[in-house]
Amino acid sequence: MKAFTYERAPSVEAAVKAAASNPDAKFIAGGTNLLDLMKLEIEHPTHLIDVNGLGLDKIDPTPDGGLRIGALVRNTALAADERVRRDYGLLSRALVAGASGQLRNKATTAGNLLQRTRCPYFYDPNQPCNKRQPGSGCSAIGGFTRQHAVVGTSDACIATHPSDMAIAMRALDAVVETVKSDGTTRAIPIADFHRLPGETPHIETVLEAGEFITTVVLPPPVGGRHIYRKVRDRASYAFALVSVAAVIHPDGTGSIALGGVAHKPWRIENADRELKNGAKAAAAVLMADARPTAQNRFKVDLVERTLGAVIAEARG
Ligand code: SF4
Repeated sequence: MKAFTYERAPSVEAAVKAAASNPDAKFIAGGTNLLDLMKLEIEHPTHLIDVNGLGLDKIDPTPDGGLRIGALVRNTALAADERVRRDYGLLSRALVAGASGQLRNKATTAGNLLQRTRCPYFYDPNQPCNKRQPGSGCSAIGGFTRQHAVVGTSDACIATHPSDMAIAMRALDAVVETVKSDGTTRAIPIADFHRLPGETPHIETVLEAGEFITTVVLPPPVGGRHIYRKVRDRASYAFALVSVAAVIHPDGTGSIALGGVAHKPWRIENADRELKNGAKAAAAVLMADARPTAQNRFKVDLVERTLGAVIAEARG
């Protein structure tokens, strides 16, 4: 691990100010992904700003009946929150499906959104990887691609987004609230928060340098059946081959987002409208521009079958 300096930020203002004064600084909270990446020297911040003491670990109701989740709420606390379990069941289920209990106890809401791909080539410094080293090439293209993306890919990167929580938040239309280094704030719909790889797969979100996530807001509960179904190679400690986060109403309408298939949580609103016509119709919209490899072509069929299982479960 490369040497770095460390400070504990006493306030959000101080945290963003510290980040603004050092472009090589990173915020750290749970550190469940960042520390691994630092040990492998894939990430090498020269300075860490510890934000654990900022008090952003509360879940509060919003005036319109939604929930405002502090950036530092641990995944365990969020999954167990009575209001989340009652009104946003797919979020609770996605969190529990996302990692071991030990990891969930440390990992935070903001950190979960910002975790980086688990593409094995990204973690191997001996292999070219445009995400780790822009312009070096993509070892996955032409390599082992069973886990990789089938939609929204580019010639520069075919990695998937690893979070389960973010997939559920995408189906729920969450909004990410931030503070920039100049003190201004903004609210970013989660649909716009993560980026597709394009020519710059190393830029994964729309966050600016030093911009800090303070909260994630869930809109008021929408009712319906909440289902999170994750298909993976083994029952635990595995990332999704395909996951479906779904809210489905008794009349067959709803919202769906997919994990394991793209560089960001994958949702196409037109597919929501096809839900009433069944899994085949919705999957056809979601997978319309799929560019699978020979090794991950199965994901296109798996999306339809997993959606079918989710719809059947919703109908009881
Ligand atoms: Fe790197 Fe993306 Fe290619 Fe994986 S898929 S090797 S993360 S550029």
